[in-house]
Amino acid sequence: MAADVLLVVNVDSDPDPVSTYQDDASILAKYARMREIIARHAGGAAAWTLLTGSLYRDRFYEGAFVPFWRSLADDGADLVIHPEEDLYGPGPGTEPESCSYYDTGHMREVILSRARKMREAGLPLSAYRGGYHGFTAEIGAVLKEAGIAIELSCAPGIVWTQKAAAWGDAPLSAYYMSSARQAEVAGDDDVAPLFEIPWAWDAVEPGLSRRFVVGENYMINEFSTLEAMKRVWDTVVRRASERGEQQIVSMVCHTYTMGLSEFEERLTSILDHVSSNGGEMVSPTRAKAIYDQRMLGEAG
Ligand SMILES: [Zn+2]
Repeated sequence: MAADVLLVVNVDSDPDPVSTYQDDASILAKYARMREIIARHAGGAAAWTLLTGSLYRDRFYEGAFVPFWRSLADDGADLVIHPEEDLYGPGPGTEPESCSYYDTGHMREVILSRARKMREAGLPLSAYRGGYHGFTAEIGAVLKEAGIAIELSCAPGIVWTQKAAAWGDAPLSAYYMSSARQAEVAGDDDVAPLFEIPWAWDAVEPGLSRRFVVGENYMINEFSTLEAMKRVWDTVVRRASERGEQQIVSMVCHTYTMGLSEFEERLTSILDHVSSNGGEMVSPTRAKAIYDQRMLGEAG
């Protein structure tokens, strides 16, 4: 049986750059354009983030955004809590060269209150992704408390202590994560480990496009090129066939570039390249179901 090669498209809905305030209507117009692209080129499957942060704690969890998120879930996308606690400046009480992700009490309140808001709005919640790949074992415990089983922050090779990103030798494909050490696979005695879907990486070097933003060694629509993203994807496909192992990885694209033809074309081109080169685009929950099914098959 040919190994599956699955791609989760992380759609990052942060409204940055925020030098100019954008009203709900213009943000929703960009979201709608991304939704169209994902429907046409990825069958509607994606992991859509709902931003929260010190500047916009509630904005995207209320009002006109709620029916939009519901329509995405109807398309087959998963909804993802996405704290960007330091994107618009340091979070409250944050030391220089540190970040809010180490403040577990703060993160617990952020995550549990977001999960509650989504539940009250009748929105399904599937996964979590921290800004700048930030994650800690303590955040992992809070996710379990919130009923979240899937984590999407991992970029293998990346170690940024200032952002709580400790993914140095993380697996290159999806894994059940050790509850104590996020870059390690869970042992048999681990209780309800989180399912981690790492960013696609060429494993050549953890190259950056700028400080705290990955670049051409990963698949990041706004900070790479079509050729570089194709090269990373082809590396993942080759890995699957050489090892005879399923590969489950993610890429990221941002809604704030919607309406700019350069970025829209780059995105549709890489999605089409994935589809016509061995890949299938799936939501995180579908990826986990396929992974679990395969493990069951191998165990039986
Ligand atoms: Zn973000």
